[in-house]
Amino acid sequence: MKQREEPNRGYLATVVGCYCPRCREGKLFQHTTSVKLRRNLLMYEKCLSCGQLTDIEVGFYYGTGFVSYFICILFSVLSFLLWWLVLGFSYNDNRFIYWVILNASFLLLSQPWLMRFSRSLWISWFVSYDPQWRTTKPFDTGRLNADQMTNW
Ligand SMILES: [Zn+2]
Repeated sequence: MKQREEPNRGYLATVVGCYCPRCREGKLFQHTTSVKLRRNLLMYEKCLSCGQLTDIEVGFYYGTGFVSYFICILFSVLSFLLWWLVLGFSYNDNRFIYWVILNASFLLLSQPWLMRFSRSLWISWFVSYDPQWRTTKPFDTGRLNADQMTNW
């Protein structure tokens, strides 16, 4: 039997596709991206392929707020620069307001996807790919409190 296994997909495809970072096989979320935010963020308790816990400690996903905030700021800066280079800004018309409205609309509409992406990115920083995931035990912080699961 093969001991080391090449990952099914690369790091970027794992994060963008919201796959388990340990085996890169199992999905993190139970449903496809949807505007129903509660349903949208419903994750499997454990990865269906390797058994990795998705909520590895109490309040684990609290930090994703900072991740999505940073991504929103980065996107806004980039879209501002692009708008400035392509269309420019002026005191004589409403181009700035149009940019604000378009940028805000895009950020709002992308929230269902962005919230999932932030969680996927977040867990990928704490749980790394394990080439022997089929035979070894999943990563466990040992800091779980079953009564407090998803209670934040
Ligand atoms: Zn897995």
